[in-house]
Amino acid sequence: MLTRFAPSPTGFLHLGNIRTALLCWLYARKTGGNFLLRIDDTDTERSKPEYVDAIKEDLTWMGLQWDAIAFQSERFDIYHAAVEKLKAAGRFYPCYETPEELEVKRKMLLSRGKPPIYDRAALKLTDAQKAQYEAEGKTPHWRFKLREGEIRWQDEIHGEMQFEGANLSDPILIRENGLYTYMLPSAVDDVELGVTHVLRGEDHISNTAIQIQLFEALGGDIPNFAHNALIKTREGKLSKRKGDSAIHHLREKGIEPMTIASFLAKLGSSDPIEPQKSLQTLIDSFDIQKFSRSSTLYDMEDLDRLNPKILHLYDFSDVEVRLQELGLTRVDVEFWEAVKGNIETLAEVVEWWRICKEPLTPEIEDAAFARDAAALLPEGPWTAETWGHWVESIKAQTGRKGKALFMPLRKALTGMEHGPELKVMLPLIGRERALARLNGQTA
Ligand code: GLU
Repeated sequence: MLTRFAPSPTGFLHLGNIRTALLCWLYARKTGGNFLLRIDDTDTERSKPEYVDAIKEDLTWMGLQWDAIAFQSERFDIYHAAVEKLKAAGRFYPCYETPEELEVKRKMLLSRGKPPIYDRAALKLTDAQKAQYEAEGKTPHWRFKLREGEIRWQDEIHGEMQFEGANLSDPILIRENGLYTYMLPSAVDDVELGVTHVLRGEDHISNTAIQIQLFEALGGDIPNFAHNALIKTREGKLSKRKGDSAIHHLREKGIEPMTIASFLAKLGSSDPIEPQKSLQTLIDSFDIQKFSRSSTLYDMEDLDRLNPKILHLYDFSDVEVRLQELGLTRVDVEFWEAVKGNIETLAEVVEWWRICKEPLTPEIEDAAFARDAAALLPEGPWTAETWGHWVESIKAQTGRKGKALFMPLRKALTGMEHGPELKVMLPLIGRERALARLNGQTA
């Protein structure tokens, strides 16, 4: 069993791409198969090495380790050989129409209510006419000649699929600039590299019909296919929001890889989306049959909402190294357990630590009130209830309530007007430091 994730390195991975990668990876891990990363870089003009690096970085960050990697740009000889095979079988022919001419043909067919299928005019060209075009400096693009007849496959998500060859346009496999389109190298590699399960977005469904004919023409085994429904934000298709949904962007804003994995592994399936701490849980519950063929709507905020729940699941040992990388070398289990339920991103721990454990200058707006509050600080040991008891006693003694009560306490204890919940922070700040800060000292 071999699945493959086949990104083109012409941009950054976004949520839609990583979902395909994740589902391919889960499928392979679940069935004891392998996961191939295939870099679709036949478009040598648009492909960039920095995008290859970014793809690898994103997959690694997500924990989606590949078992093998292949670069299409290193495999042109194999595609050329396939082309020769198609030519010998009379399934590959040169065409000389310009894009404008093709557009006119397309529009004429559409205006007559007909599907815009290429009319195969190029098949009727004589050798003399072709020679004439070449003499005029025209270079051909090359099409694959489809055969008439039914094309069927059993899609693992869409069920029974059926196309008629005569209703499809002969696809262009090589453009006039000599570059391969995606169609042939992908099919050749699926055969040559032994891919058994092709899982990809449903925007490839009609390509699959064509590629099945390519598999047959090349004499290769036809893999199993599963086309997952596309995911859409309420604002429209994902690709339009590439910036927001780019994986590196989500990483930079503090979204956990397991937030993305927990979300995408279940989105559009019959399982509920629940926070999971490890990919193993997602492997165990993975089943391609659970995925629906209808497209799924989601909000970018769904990830923001799930992220704190993921952080909440982490034990100190899960985050210790990452906290050290954030410069927090002295955070311990106790501190982590106290704050983890109150943060939205891991980086927020830095602020908690600074406020609770490092000296800061309090902001005292009413010294008498702060002194009264200091005098009322309960004796230790402090718990989550300490704040409530303390506030009650300040209320009783000073008659203050609401903002007039809380804001001066916050400014005195944290030096700021906004920040994490005082109730949780107070025991972490501790009695000694709280007392000093309320008395106006840097502590
Ligand atoms: N490079 C193609 C893409 O990014 C791969 C599609 C496929 O999985 O076959 O759309």
